[in-house]
Amino acid sequence: MAQRVPTADTGAKKTSRVRVAVRLRPYMEKEDDKAEGPCVRGLDSQNLEIINWRNATETVKYHFDAFHDEQTTQQGVFLASVKPILPHILTGQNGSVLAYGPTGAGKTHTMLGSREQPGVIPRAVKEVFNLLRTQEEAQDGWGCSLTMSYLEIYNEKVLDLLSPSTQDLPIREDKDRNILIPGLTQTPLASFAEFDQHFVPASLNRTTASTKLNQRSSRSHAILLIKVVRTQRAPPHRQQTGKLYLVDLAGSEDNRRTGNQGLRLKESGAINLSLFTLSKVVDSLNGGTGARVPYRDSKLTRLLQDSLGGSSHSVMITNIAPEYSYYFDTFSALNFAAKSKLIVNKPFVRETLTVPVPQVKRPREEAEGDQLRKK
Ligand code: ADP
Ligand code: MG
Repeated sequence: MAQRVPTADTGAKKTSRVRVAVRLRPYMEKEDDKAEGPCVRGLDSQNLEIINWRNATETVKYHFDAFHDEQTTQQGVFLASVKPILPHILTGQNGSVLAYGPTGAGKTHTMLGSREQPGVIPRAVKEVFNLLRTQEEAQDGWGCSLTMSYLEIYNEKVLDLLSPSTQDLPIREDKDRNILIPGLTQTPLASFAEFDQHFVPASLNRTTASTKLNQRSSRSHAILLIKVVRTQRAPPHRQQTGKLYLVDLAGSEDNRRTGNQGLRLKESGAINLSLFTLSKVVDSLNGGTGARVPYRDSKLTRLLQDSLGGSSHSVMITNIAPEYSYYFDTFSALNFAAKSKLIVNKPFVRETLTVPVPQVKRPREEAEGDQLRKK
């Protein structure tokens, strides 16, 4: 019998922050029928500004752990925000990468990407296999195995995307505080090619069917779980489990404004519960108020409980779009993601869009002529 080593945060009060990155996708003419130009732009690798609709002579400046501008490549996002998490998965720790933002802002592009421009998911899986190979070559007396699971949370129901059925799977917690889903398919993977074989059909299934299904895909959370189990070859055969969650979240748009009725409204309500609870969990982890983190209030946060905060390594990539048609959804996504914001008494000058913008000054230096407001 293999002896288990607890890998989750076993009750210690230490919690770690969720890193917050923002990615701005390129401006697309077709998304902007009034041709008004972008309403948001980057300033440097941690700051951006957006025009203030309440007062066009002001911009609102936001600060994040990282800002990826519209020219940032898929590789650029991966290297800066995701790759550093991966070695931890091979030492029995957990991690998560979440793509947040309104529908159309680039969540699926960031996570999945395309054949030509693969996103975070294929890059991360490839890198985990690279790390496994390096570890095997080191012959440290441990063997490794990797499995994948793929699921969806829709209407607060947990559904298996690798063996589709309508059954809502239960989420459980074991005595070591590890979160698990007993009925969920776990497919062993020996190589990246095998991952491709299993994952691509399942993800295409979810994203490119009828319009109806597209609506569903923007209303559900798609969750890929990569689990690495390391086992000591010699007695006492100790075992370490590391989990990596890669999540394409439901659209963060406010469905009340789009006038959904009946079932749609119910769906939005359910999505809002998981997204709303996620925002409370992230706030609570990052604000460090010491208050109870409300993981149990939704399926999504319950599932991520051992992989978000605590001793785990997590990043939330907030995707935003530059067109005015996204303005209010961008604003609310930024308010969710921001570490701080600052209203600046300076018009959003369109003429300067293509020239390099000056470095952002620290709030103190700028506070004189500006109104400084806390988030
Ligand atoms: P979401 O999943 O948030 O609804 P998508 O990922 O489907 O949004 O992106 C919407 C459209 O914008 C797609 O056509 C996608 O290819 C394109 N897109 C998104 N982000 C980028 C980017 N960084 N560079 C180029 N195209 C992008
Ligand atoms: Mg999408």
